[in-house]
Amino acid sequence: MFVITDKCSACGLCLDECPISAIEVGEPIYVINDTCCDFEECVSVCPEDAIVSEDEIT
Ligand code: SF4
Ligand code: SF4
Repeated sequence: MFVITDKCSACGLCLDECPISAIEVGEPIYVINDTCCDFEECVSVCPEDAIVSEDEIT
């Protein structure tokens, strides 16, 4: 599982990167839902480095 931290600027770049559409527009920041299965395509496009593995923050 990957999660989006509060560094997210809601730029929207990650939205189209996820092959299974696990990223949703949230308020105020974007969120990754529990269908995320670690493809990691979204991680490299994020300009804020806001997408991190859940393991890194727990
Ligand atoms: S890690 Fe993969 S499955 Fe999860 S939100 Fe990013 S692109 Fe989608
Ligand atoms: S690419 Fe990064 S900053 Fe942009 S919406 Fe996604 S998580 Fe937020």
